[in-house]
Amino acid sequence: MSEPPVPELFEEVVGQPRVVAQLTTAARRPVHAYLLHGPSGSGKRAAARGLAAALLCPDGGCGACNACRRALAGTHPDLVVVERTGPSITVADAQTIVTRAQRRPLEASRQVLMVADVHLARDSVPALLKTVEEPPPSTVFVLLADDLPPHLATIVSRCVQVPFDAVPTGAVVAWLVEHGVDPEHADSVARASGGSLDRARLLVSDAGFVGRQERWRSVPTRLDGSGAAAAVVSSELLAAADEALAPLRQQHAAELEALSDQAEIMGSKSIPGRRQVEEGHKREERRWRTDDLRFGLATLAEVYRDRLVDTIEADQGAHSSGSAAEGRRAVRQVEAIHEASAALSRNPNESLLMDALMVELSGMVD
Ligand SMILES: [Zn+2]
Repeated sequence: MSEPPVPELFEEVVGQPRVVAQLTTAARRPVHAYLLHGPSGSGKRAAARGLAAALLCPDGGCGACNACRRALAGTHPDLVVVERTGPSITVADAQTIVTRAQRRPLEASRQVLMVADVHLARDSVPALLKTVEEPPPSTVFVLLADDLPPHLATIVSRCVQVPFDAVPTGAVVAWLVEHGVDPEHADSVARASGGSLDRARLLVSDAGFVGRQERWRSVPTRLDGSGAAAAVVSSELLAAADEALAPLRQQHAAELEALSDQAEIMGSKSIPGRRQVEEGHKREERRWRTDDLRFGLATLAEVYRDRLVDTIEADQGAHSSGSAAEGRRAVRQVEAIHEASAALSRNPNESLLMDALMVELSGMVD
């Protein structure tokens, strides 16, 4: 058994003390395969790099040596990161993984094979299974998955599982404040991040974020009961969700530029697999937009909930039947918003969904 890795290796794993404790223990007596699973943006990659540093460092993860630093930066030659080449992990991708697993480590006593998006393996599961189950003794698998669909069951059973939760809002706030963000802004960004540090990072530099939030908050005062007002509000909210994509698109453009520079260095005129990279970006943009709408709906539900609380408080002062009706209306409004939010995950026609919701909320206006 080697020395335990220093906590600094997991500095970038925010709000996941259980994960850090588990990996710290694991690093002292590693097994052949780990499966890090949990929502996107919860710190799986950072944790995998920390574990890799602990496994590649001659001192078990000192945090200071060259091996540790390169593993944390993702540039150690014995930390091999395998990304899928298309929308799923194909049988051909699995073949690449099998081949890489057989390779001998170049510098360290072992190599770490990090495989991203394992939840997207389906047809390739049988091809992956044998090598994950029994890799050469010098290979340690670190598999990453956003969730664990049933078709992954055989792989899951062959790995030590490391479950991640969404990063708690308080931890996101603390992390943002530590990085120089004003506490009040940090608080609203953290709530909008949905427990994803990646999303928080982008939102914090998004100039339109505060304006979008205001737009959602003002919805109840702008619905005057007319269908025309409902249509205008609905189309504005959808336009705002499109605007929300700007910082992510900038990040994607920068990524393509970096890939293009890299391709040039390697003597290639174009980015290999460019189409797949772009498809991945489109998928991410669709998810981002849905997340933004969902957060907007949660903000709106909060406004109606506050009204409900006001109604109840007013009711305690004066027993009027009018306020009871108002209370029931607010409850129905909050319910309608929650239903719309749940429906978003079923890939509906968003503009029909939003139109219908605004009309419904309008009908409930006095
Ligand atoms: Zn070290």
